[in-house]
Amino acid sequence: MNKTLGDTTGDTILTLAATQAHAAGQAKGPLCWICGGSADSGEHKAKKSDLRAVYGTVTQAAPLILNDGKHKNRKVGSFDALAMKWPKSLCHACNTTRTQPHDRAWEVMSSALRGWTPRLRPGSVVRADRIFATDTARSMLAIHLYFVKAFGCLAVEAGSAAKINVPSLSEAIAQDRSHSDIYLAIGIPMQVIPGPIVAASDLSIYWNPRDGSPGLATWFYNVSNVCVLVAYAPDMALWAHREGLWHPRHGTNRLIVRDFAGTGDPSNSEYTRTAFRLGVPSARAE
Ligand SMILES: [Zn+2]
Repeated sequence: MNKTLGDTTGDTILTLAATQAHAAGQAKGPLCWICGGSADSGEHKAKKSDLRAVYGTVTQAAPLILNDGKHKNRKVGSFDALAMKWPKSLCHACNTTRTQPHDRAWEVMSSALRGWTPRLRPGSVVRADRIFATDTARSMLAIHLYFVKAFGCLAVEAGSAAKINVPSLSEAIAQDRSHSDIYLAIGIPMQVIPGPIVAASDLSIYWNPRDGSPGLATWFYNVSNVCVLVAYAPDMALWAHREGLWHPRHGTNRLIVRDFAGTGDPSNSEYTRTAFRLGVPSARAE
């Protein structure tokens, strides 16, 4: 694990290898990080509806190519293959019933963004009420909570070294309210790859130099021509480039599309560290 002091205008402070087990669950089997019940369900690393939308049907005869930290050009014949999921860290009820409205909201928004006309560019304005004509604020809260869940699964996988306040994430979901420190931004992917792609970056953490806490953690999730930045930012002062960030408490329906390929974005270097990439074979060892 590399650890270097710095700020968000510099290099990555820490990129976490996704290998550490959820410490709390080691004694009696993994526990659901939302409700504390027995974890018998693993969240898909990339949302299954996104995979279906981008790749259609995948079979053993027509497999998908997976590249990640453990696999190079591995053929995956099912979206439900173990390699496509995080280790079990949720109970079935939390991963289905409790968070289903959030999953569905993202499914709708993901599709709308990918099919947006005219095609999204840096600086484009996405009005959420064009996607959710009624209950716009409620639906946008659901989008926020979908990414709280995704980020929580990532944080649990990263383990205690990441020092992410996982209980605060579970409280937001359990109480159906926004998490004060989770922000989203939508943008144009840094690497525009022709052809279908679903990919995500590693979780990157910038430590707060004052107390060693994670002041800012970022994660990029890329579905075809749209990328979402999920940022956990307990200390916003650490972050110089906050344009386009959205939080439910901002009370706005307008999302500004950010240019993740643009120069000067401190998060660019993180995005090149790919956690997983689907659909695009790798020609070199990663
Ligand atoms: Zn649960």
